[in-house]
Amino acid sequence: MKEELVDSVAGLITAANKVVVFTGAGVSTESGLPDFRSPGGIWEKFDPEDFTYQKFVSDPVARAKHWRLLKDLSASVAPNPAHYAITELYQLGRLDCVITQNVDNLHQCAGLPAERVFELHGNMQSLLCLGCRRRYPFADIKARLETEEAPGCPACGGILKPAVVFFGESLPEDVLKEASRHARGSDLFIVVGSTLTVYPAAYLPDYALAAGAKLVIVNLSATPIDDRADVVIRARAGEAMPAIVARLKEGPAV
Ligand code: ZN
Repeated sequence: MKEELVDSVAGLITAANKVVVFTGAGVSTESGLPDFRSPGGIWEKFDPEDFTYQKFVSDPVARAKHWRLLKDLSASVAPNPAHYAITELYQLGRLDCVITQNVDNLHQCAGLPAERVFELHGNMQSLLCLGCRRRYPFADIKARLETEEAPGCPACGGILKPAVVFFGESLPEDVLKEASRHARGSDLFIVVGSTLTVYPAAYLPDYALAAGAKLVIVNLSATPIDDRADVVIRARAGEAMPAIVARLKEGPAV
């Protein structure tokens, strides 16, 4: 990772009034969460066909598979240095909010206030009853997985669905609207660990750019808008973000 790129990003953050960080799977893979699409990722172990909303609602076998995946994913996953660095950016008063494609709750686990995190694809630590619409923390239901394949709603026996966006479901409109508003209102938009290939989320950097914001991309592989970025850092999020925050705390170069 080039030192001068870290310097440039720290400089852009210092000069900005409203910094928005956009995170994708690359931030969480370092926490041991498998990526969905990469080799060795979740879609090699599970069939995406089983994860549509229709299938989940109509097929108890698919539902049981989903609970197994949920159990897998929630086992011993903890925030990594990228999450903590992003939280520190907030604590330093340099971050307005995080928009994330991740559903793992790790930004909040790392201490970022929940109201500063816009989750485009929902949060798997929350369960929604499709019958009575009550919500439950996954932690409250988890123990029942020892004896049940697909626990139902404690209140009405209805189907409990993770509060994440399934294939065949649209993104939560209110969250997308808020995220778009923050992207348009930012003057520095930092993409971390996303290849920006999943729409409509991938439009958000466009909104920021159209509004005149600077763009920084921290990702291991190329993205379709690298050529429009002010700075591109090809590195792991857990390496780049702490370096940027450390540089920021040193203050401007003399
Ligand atoms: Zn219910």
